[in-house]
Amino acid sequence: MTLHADYDPNNIFAKIVRGEMPCVRVYEDNIALAFMDVFPQSQGHTLIIPKRQQARNFIDMPSDHLGSYMLRVQKVARAVEAALSPDGMVVTQFNGATAGQTVFHLHFHVIPRWDGVPLGRHAGGGMATPEELEPLATKIRSKL
Ligand code: AMP
Repeated sequence: MTLHADYDPNNIFAKIVRGEMPCVRVYEDNIALAFMDVFPQSQGHTLIIPKRQQARNFIDMPSDHLGSYMLRVQKVARAVEAALSPDGMVVTQFNGATAGQTVFHLHFHVIPRWDGVPLGRHAGGGMATPEELEPLATKIRSKL
C-alpha cells in the first residue's frame, strides 16, 4: 500500500534537509546528507539521504540521480569502517511500511557490526542523545 504514494514534503528527513529539524551531521554536499541515526541499532549507525530528489524510496529515485547518490553512500560507509573498525557492516534500505520503512524519504542505513554484539531493534530501540552521537560523528567525519 505505502510502496507507491505521494511524497510528503513534511517528512522528518525533508525537515532535516531544510534545517527545520536538528541532526548530528556526518557529511553534506549538494547531492547527499549523512547523519547519525537517533535510534541507533549499533554504535555508529549512520543514514545517508539524497538532498534534492523527493523520492520516497529506492524505486522512486530518478535513475539519473542514483549513481551520484550511491557514491555518497559508499563514501560514508567507507568512512564508518575506517573510523570505527567494525567486524562487519550492514548497508540496507527498506521500501514501504510492509518492508519495515518508517520514514518516507529515501535513505540507506550503514550499521557497523561487531562480533558478539547483538543488533538493536530497527527504529525502535533507545534514543541516543546528541552528546552520545557527536563523538562518533566526529570520528567518522575525520575519515571523510
Ligand atoms: P526506516 O525505518 O528504514 O525508514 O528508517 C528510518 C530510520 O530513521 C530509523 O532507523 C530511525 O531510527 C531513524 N530516525 C527517525 N527519526 C530520526 C531523526 N529525527 N534523526 C535521525 N534518525 C531518525
